[in-house]
Amino acid sequence: MVHGRRALPELTDLTAPHWTSGASGRLSVQRCLDCRRWSFPPSPCCRYCWGTDLVFEPVAGKGVLVSWTRVAEPIHAAPVPPYLVGVVDLPEGVRLLLGLTGGGPDDLRVGAPVRLVFEQVDDRVWLPLAEIEESDLFEDRIEAVS
Ligand SMILES: [Zn+2]
Repeated sequence: MVHGRRALPELTDLTAPHWTSGASGRLSVQRCLDCRRWSFPPSPCCRYCWGTDLVFEPVAGKGVLVSWTRVAEPIHAAPVPPYLVGVVDLPEGVRLLLGLTGGGPDDLRVGAPVRLVFEQVDDRVWLPLAEIEESDLFEDRIEAVS
């Protein structure tokens, strides 16, 4: 389903807690109560221990950029390219694929700090996005390597 310039995720009993959590200002990610590990995408059982006692808990909202790409050709009806998507590692130990905002291709670096922000796209869905953060620490690391 497409709404405006965004493709919307399908809301099911399994996925809705994740995609609607932005209304609270914090992204909720599925967590296993047996092994305490976080995972995405939502699943009926834990990918690590096969436990079925899973809940959604809010994450801190910070992460680091692991990889990214600029999508130049349309894959679906929305979003309309060009746009940036990135792989982001959260300190909770879960990896997400997110739209990137707050920076252009020249601002992207492996290890760049990001914070999670949201774009409300309809009355229920808040798409999480990764916003590239400015960081003196990150700039110091770049200078130390060069
Ligand atoms: Zn588990």
